[in-house]
Amino acid sequence: MKKQLLLSALLITATVIAQAQYDSPEGGGAYEIPAGICVSDQQKAAIEQELKASRAMLVEQGILSERAAAKTTVPKLDWPIKQASGFNYYNIYGVSNFVDLDKNYPNQLLDYNCGSRTYDLASGYNHGGIDIFLWPFSINMMDNNQAEIVAAAPGVILAKHDGSFDKNCAFNNDQWNAVYIEHSDGSVAWYGHMKKNSLTSKTVGQSVATGEFLGIVGSSGSSTAPHLHFELHDDKSNVVDPFNGSCNTSASLWNSQKPYRESKVNTLITCSAAPVLTACPNPDIINAKDTFNIGSSVVFATFYSDQLNGQQSTYSILRPDNSVEQTWTHSANQAYNASWWYWTRQIATTGIAGVYTFKVSYEGKDYEHKFYMRDPNSITGAEKDKLLVYPSPASDVVYIKGLAVSWVEVYDLMGKQVAKETDFNGQLHVSALPNGMYTLRMNTEEGIQISKVVIRR
Ligand SMILES: [Zn+2]
Repeated sequence: MKKQLLLSALLITATVIAQAQYDSPEGGGAYEIPAGICVSDQQKAAIEQELKASRAMLVEQGILSERAAAKTTVPKLDWPIKQASGFNYYNIYGVSNFVDLDKNYPNQLLDYNCGSRTYDLASGYNHGGIDIFLWPFSINMMDNNQAEIVAAAPGVILAKHDGSFDKNCAFNNDQWNAVYIEHSDGSVAWYGHMKKNSLTSKTVGQSVATGEFLGIVGSSGSSTAPHLHFELHDDKSNVVDPFNGSCNTSASLWNSQKPYRESKVNTLITCSAAPVLTACPNPDIINAKDTFNIGSSVVFATFYSDQLNGQQSTYSILRPDNSVEQTWTHSANQAYNASWWYWTRQIATTGIAGVYTFKVSYEGKDYEHKFYMRDPNSITGAEKDKLLVYPSPASDVVYIKGLAVSWVEVYDLMGKQVAKETDFNGQLHVSALPNGMYTLRMNTEEGIQISKVVIRR
C-alpha cells in the first residue's frame, strides 16, 4: 500500500514536470524591427521644398486654394494599412514607434501615452511619425503585395516619389518612395517607405478618397525593414501627433483611435518544420503546410502583436468532430511589440482523417487555422485535391501549399514553357514574367498536378 502511494506520488510529479516542459515553446521569441532614421532633417527640408513648389503649382492651376483661407474642419483619420484581398491573416502589422513629443535629444523619449515607444538621435532627429511594421514575414508580404497603404483621409495628391530601391535593411541617405496628401484643412499626410513601382497611378493634383489605395508597404529610403512611416503635418508644416493620451492632450484625430497596445494574434499556421525568420532582405522560410498524414508531426506556430507580460494563450487542436485532440497553455513573461512561439506535436495517432482546427484563445478572442489529416493508405479522389495555389492574380510570388512539390514548370497561353523551378521550396518567383495567364505544371507527392495562375501588376 505504502509502496503504491509512493509510486503514484512519483507519477504525479513526473506528470507535472512533463506538463511544464510540454508548455514551454520549442522556439520563437521577440521580433524587433531595428529603429532607423526614417527621414533625415536634410531629406525633410528637401521634401518640404518639393511640397511647397508643388503646392504653388496646384494653386496656380486652381486645384488648391491659398493657405491664408479660413480653415475647414480637420478631417478625421482612418488606419492607413489594409490587408489586400485574397489574404487571410487576422492582422498584418505592429507599431514600433510613435511621434517623439520630447524635443530634447538624444534618448529623451516621450510618446503620447507618456511611454517611450519612439526614438531620437544625437544628430537632433526626433521621430515625427508612426512606424507601422509588417508582421510576420515582412519581405514575403512585400513580395506578395499583401499590405496596402490606403489614404487615411480624403485629399489631393500634393507630391509623389517613386523609383527608389525598396529592400533597404539599414540607415542610408536613399530617397524613399512616398505619397503626400493634402487634406481640406491644409494639413498634409506623408506616407513613406513604399515599394518601388507600387504607387497609385493617380497623378499630382488628383483627389483620393478615404481608404483609397496609395501603394504597397516596402523598405525604400532610410529603413531597416518593410514598414509604413505615416507622418502628419499641419498647414504650417508642424508635426502633429494624431493620438490623444496623457502626454498629448489635443483631441484624437483618429475616427477610432486604436489602443496603445493592440494585443492580437496576427496569424497562426501549421508547418512541416519550424519557420525560419531570416535577416532582411531575404524572405522568411515559412514552411507552411496544411495537409499531413495521420500520426505525423506538425509544427504549430502563432504570431502575436503587442503580447504583454502575463497574458495567457490556450492552444487547442480539435478533431473533425470538434472534440479536443490536445490542449496546452502558454504565458508571456514580458511585453513584446511582436512575438512568436511554436510547438511540434504528433497528431491523430488514433487514425481519424479529416479537417482539423488549430485554435488559439487569447485576450477574449478565438483564432483558428484549419489543416487536413489524411490516411495515406486510403487517399480518395476528393482528398487528393488539396493543393493550394495563391494569390491569383499575383505580382512577384506565387505560393504553392498543401502538398509537397519538387518542381514547377510554367507555361504561357501558347503552351510554351517560360520558366521552371527545381528544388522547389513553396514559392514561385514570377516577377520576371509579363502580365497574363499561365499554366503551372507541378510534380507533387501525389503526382503531376495542373493549376492556372494570373500574373498582374
Ligand atoms: Zn518612422
